[in-house]
Amino acid sequence: MRVILLGPPGAGKGTQAQFITEQYSIPQISTGDMLRSAVKAGSDLGLKVKDIMASGGLVSDEIIIALVKERIQQSDCAGGFLFDGFPRTIPQAQALVDAGVIIEHVIEIAVDDEQIVSRLSGRRVHEDSGRVYHIEHNPPKNPGFDDETQEPLIQRPDDKEETIRNRLDIYHTQTKPLVDFYKSLAEKDPSAPVFSKIDGVGSLSDVQARLVSALS
Ligand code: ADP
Ligand code: ADP
Repeated sequence: MRVILLGPPGAGKGTQAQFITEQYSIPQISTGDMLRSAVKAGSDLGLKVKDIMASGGLVSDEIIIALVKERIQQSDCAGGFLFDGFPRTIPQAQALVDAGVIIEHVIEIAVDDEQIVSRLSGRRVHEDSGRVYHIEHNPPKNPGFDDETQEPLIQRPDDKEETIRNRLDIYHTQTKPLVDFYKSLAEKDPSAPVFSKIDGVGSLSDVQARLVSALS
């Protein structure tokens, strides 16, 4: 199965991706996680994208498309994959179509802006794995530490309120238009992904149940 999770930063894409990838045995492809690893490793790619990520802006389509094309060639993607945080612009979505990559489902997880600010300011992550927690809504067993490795959790530098507002503006102008892109693709192309919108507000398990029903 090939799935795209669409939605604003903080909608719960990464959180739900952890569940879907286990349930359907497909890898999660998070361009955000891939870029953060590059920054941490200090690679050429990391040096190129560091500042733009810190400001909440988008990395260039050219870089992202090359990264994703290379990733989906790897053997673990043969049975499908889940994109989390990609595509984020029309050119990125169009590049998938042009490359003939068939996607079965695009699911928009809808959460309003005020809720996003509170979610992102309480988000804590395990840097190496990308596992996501929230200090109130999804706390780790031991506050401040990852459940699996017991390593310390961090707050992402771009999860500060002013950067969050910038990221939300960018979401509305650059990423939200993908909803219409996929809706109109579904109308004219029988091999286009099925588009569904689900409510992202509620407990983690409520949202998970909505996702499972959209995927079935
Ligand atoms: P969130 O889900 O909180 O928005 P991500 O981890 O998906 O955050 O992305 C973090 C940052 O990485 C983005 O703000 C952006 O700078 C960069 N990024 C990730 N994916 C993409 C993409 N598909 N296109 C452009 N930039 C991206
Ligand atoms: P995204 O990948 O879309 O940026 P995350 O999965 O990282 O979003 O979730 C953002 C924050 O919101 C995290 O702190 C996460 O624990 C929390 N969160 C996720 N789903 C829910 C939910 N249904 N209700 C409340 N908080 C949630």
